[in-house]
Amino acid sequence: MKLELRGITKRFGSLVANDHIDLVVEPGEIHALLGENGAGKSTLMNVLYGLYDPTEGEILVDDKPVVFKGPGDAMAAGIGMVHQHFMLVPVLTVAENVMLGDEYTKSAGMLDRKKAREVVQQLSHEHHLEVNPDVLVEDLPVGIQQRVEILKALARHAKVLILDEPTAVLTPQETDHLMDVMRSLKEGGTSIVFISHKLREVRAIADKITVIRRGKVVGSAEPSASPAELAALMVGRPVQLRVDKEPAKPGEPVLQIEDLRVIDPSGQVLVDDVSLDVRAGEIYALAGVQGNGQSELTEAIVGLTEVQHGTVRLDGQDITSAGTDAILDKGVGYVPEDRLHDGLIGSFSIAENLVLDLHDRAPYGTSISLNLKEIESNARERVDEFDVRTPSIDAAASTLSGGNQQKVVLAREMSRPLRLLVVSQPTRGVDVGSMEFVHKRIVAERDRGAAVLLVSTELDEVIGLADRVGVMYAGRVIGELPPTASAEEFGLLMAGHTAGESKESA
Ligand code: ADP
Ligand code: MG
Repeated sequence: MKLELRGITKRFGSLVANDHIDLVVEPGEIHALLGENGAGKSTLMNVLYGLYDPTEGEILVDDKPVVFKGPGDAMAAGIGMVHQHFMLVPVLTVAENVMLGDEYTKSAGMLDRKKAREVVQQLSHEHHLEVNPDVLVEDLPVGIQQRVEILKALARHAKVLILDEPTAVLTPQETDHLMDVMRSLKEGGTSIVFISHKLREVRAIADKITVIRRGKVVGSAEPSASPAELAALMVGRPVQLRVDKEPAKPGEPVLQIEDLRVIDPSGQVLVDDVSLDVRAGEIYALAGVQGNGQSELTEAIVGLTEVQHGTVRLDGQDITSAGTDAILDKGVGYVPEDRLHDGLIGSFSIAENLVLDLHDRAPYGTSISLNLKEIESNARERVDEFDVRTPSIDAAASTLSGGNQQKVVLAREMSRPLRLLVVSQPTRGVDVGSMEFVHKRIVAERDRGAAVLLVSTELDEVIGLADRVGVMYAGRVIGELPPTASAEEFGLLMAGHTAGESKESA
């Protein structure tokens, strides 16, 4: 099936998320949509999938104009979509999720369970998407939930499958497997729109690459294009992709974690007796698939979550349960993963957010008054230095895009003297251009002598920045590797296989 988008424009109020976009997806083609975060990729696909009405433009299926009033219409036309955030029902089984709202529901609205299981088994066998149809979705790791999403689209006979940033939640091995699945679907005649901001993946799998920047198509490229060319297209200027850094000169231990355990209210162990040291002048990275205790570990370090047992020391001093304000006061910078919840106050202005926690001390103010001039000039400098894209320093933080919110948090945390920088997902949602800047700043902190604990699910980022790497799996640091280790070695640990185990299974 041939799919064409002609002159698609989508506005949200005054924001133009898609600006006259033309795109043709040929039958049996893997078409990559490459663009920075916020470029408008998901919006365009949501228009195509009938979730949004385009402000202007038309969609053609096999050269005939179509109008999708909702995803039901898009599915009926043979379009399936796996969203960035999965849309499965956690308390239903795999089979129930796959068949939900489909033709195998009996007339009374009841699901024909037997039929559903058969369909799932057959499809998962055919497409190498192994999954047990009877398991509850909530009990599955994200990599497998993704298979369920794909099966769901295939059960509806999708001829064009849209995958929105599918590799964001996968280990390197799972990514390889997904690419194999994509290739085999393509051989069966299915077209795929593969959305990503990762150059390596796009070059590995795509037949055709369309690059979107700020809502517009800025070019198309062949997969043979160099990473530098693609990055320049995405960002609109040449970008340095590799992190430039000297070998670390580690000093004394700054952060010492011993037997740290964090449990959730239901008693589930989230951080399982973790011990690690980070020394002055080194970047220690925690790699791992999201959701393996990394966030809870960093929250425990800065006193945002209760510790069941174990200790956290900063320069030899026990800071376990010292309280977040006190901990940050000792020269700990914290860039949380979820900026809008933990890093910023959305309703406060950018200028105010840049002095959060500092507003009651010189030069910004005293306990009873604020020095607005200092707050303003600080904001102007930081916004300029970190290239925060905003119409005004008085704009509310919530109005910024994710990448710009991240820059505000980084700017604040990196503009005071630090002993320890704890930084989670520093470039999530940040464009390739700013990524270069953020990485340089992190290395600069290290070279100034700070200890840096970096948490990242992006293996490229870990390998590029870290001096030592620990891999977290199921709440534990299950192994340490030098950053020069191969993606395969990292991938095995990320999937929970320790060296002993992998030998056995080999
Ligand atoms: P991408 O998927 O390329 O990262 P998106 O399509 O999600 O980008 O977003 C493009 C732009 O549209 C961003 O500036 C984003 O903030 C904005 N946007 C996306 N969805 C909405 C919405 N429902 N309402 C308002 N603005 C939106
Ligand atoms: Mg998106």
